[in-house]
Amino acid sequence: MSLTAFCLEQADFPKGKNEAAKYIADKLSEKEGAGSGECAGIICFSCFVWNVEILEEASKLLRAKGFVCIAGGPEITAHPSFYQGFDYTVSGEGEISVPLLIAKILNKTGALDKSEKSDKVIISPSPDLGIIHSPYLDEIIDPAEYEGALWELARGCPFKCAYCYESKGEKTVRLFPMERIKAELELFAKKRVPQVFVLDPTYNVNKKRAVELLRLIASKTPDTFYYFEARAEFIDRELAREFTRIPCALQIGLQSLNEETLKLVNRPFDKKKFIRGISVLNEEGITFGLDLIFGLPGESFGSFREGVDFAISMLPNNLEIFCLSVLPGTDLYDRADGLGLVYEKNPPYHVSRTKQFTEEDMERARKLAAACSYFYNAGRAVTWFNAVCRVLKLKPSKFFELFYQKNKKVCEDSSCCECSHIDIEEIQLEFLKGLFTERHQEKYYRVVEDIVKFYGAISRTTDTGKSETVQLNYNADYVASDYASDIKWFCENVKPQKCRIQTFRNRGEVDFKFVKG
Ligand code: SF4
Repeated sequence: MSLTAFCLEQADFPKGKNEAAKYIADKLSEKEGAGSGECAGIICFSCFVWNVEILEEASKLLRAKGFVCIAGGPEITAHPSFYQGFDYTVSGEGEISVPLLIAKILNKTGALDKSEKSDKVIISPSPDLGIIHSPYLDEIIDPAEYEGALWELARGCPFKCAYCYESKGEKTVRLFPMERIKAELELFAKKRVPQVFVLDPTYNVNKKRAVELLRLIASKTPDTFYYFEARAEFIDRELAREFTRIPCALQIGLQSLNEETLKLVNRPFDKKKFIRGISVLNEEGITFGLDLIFGLPGESFGSFREGVDFAISMLPNNLEIFCLSVLPGTDLYDRADGLGLVYEKNPPYHVSRTKQFTEEDMERARKLAAACSYFYNAGRAVTWFNAVCRVLKLKPSKFFELFYQKNKKVCEDSSCCECSHIDIEEIQLEFLKGLFTERHQEKYYRVVEDIVKFYGAISRTTDTGKSETVQLNYNADYVASDYASDIKWFCENVKPQKCRIQTFRNRGEVDFKFVKG
């Protein structure tokens, strides 16, 4: 029996739990290398909140064909006895316990020893990270076969946010040894891995190590794009400058702006330091996104909206807004009733209401999140969004609500975030035109139209390398300048001057030139 790592793209799954489960079971049973005797093969599933129910169904189908199915991952770790559709469940980190279990299953003969099935739940201790093997260096996973690599640098977190699996952790960070990290980086360089998702929930909690690793990354894989999760409060100028030396983006958890809420979920937050860290990122031109959660205890719809407005004022490249999940195995799960959280009893365990957040509020927040995802994130609006809200005298959260009211269909169609950006831009412009007209502010629309079209073309050329030609109402040099950050001033002080520009990419930098026509 051979060992194979197999990753199915969620995007390829058919819709519906049973259809997706059948698809997974068919794909896996097609794989070569199945065993002999009573055991057709052993399949280990990594279960998360979003896939556990599908995988349990797939497991049932595979078991009927003679496969043995083992489940692990965060969702199983939280409550290993709950899911009955697998042969075995492993709670905790499985690098040592799963191979031992497999050896037992095979009973060294290649046939399934059914007597072992009496012990279906395995509680696995955390192994020493210095001794566990790297799936990349062992050639179990070839990073060249995927669009990007997941790169584990550490396990654990020094914080204990109540809604997170780490809430009951040991509050320590265990690090993978530097030799392994260096060897994996060399492999990524050799395989020309285009992008790497760094698995370390608080990459910059140890600045010395963060800087050391960034220097190593810059020297070994200068062209690979990296995604980090970081804490804004710990970002200073020196660290930010190291981030600028590699192509990368940071995702930063804000979660809530409400102090009472953050206390209730045991999440430390220093607003001044947060703003300072984000300012440094903006000054150094580093791409970053922010996360918010709605449905947290103590949060009202008003304070949630304040969080959205604050987050957008920080100029994130993207703002991800999630509904709170009360995950079994977390501190919040234990305290949920006392805190008045009402939530789904099955995955994804979404909150449906709280003491302060009614069901209607949850629905409003969900719609607002969908509008933000479409208009701001997929619409790449970071460069101009705050300027547009200022001239309209609208808070970002209100803007998103208005956008949703007029564009429900595109906001609700999850595949719309994969629409081409030019289509999204068309919808943005149509909405903006209507908004400026309704408010009798048509005179500003011509400036806004230029800014949206100009930055849209620049971002698409950055993305694809393809040149675009754009017709503008104002001189593009002014449109591209800081003057455009104050639309009212721009409109009152800059004379319209039609021009045509062409964007182009030269040695990685995107610029534009004036063209005739
Ligand atoms: S949410 Fe992030 S910072 Fe908080 S405990 Fe979990 S991993 Fe750590």
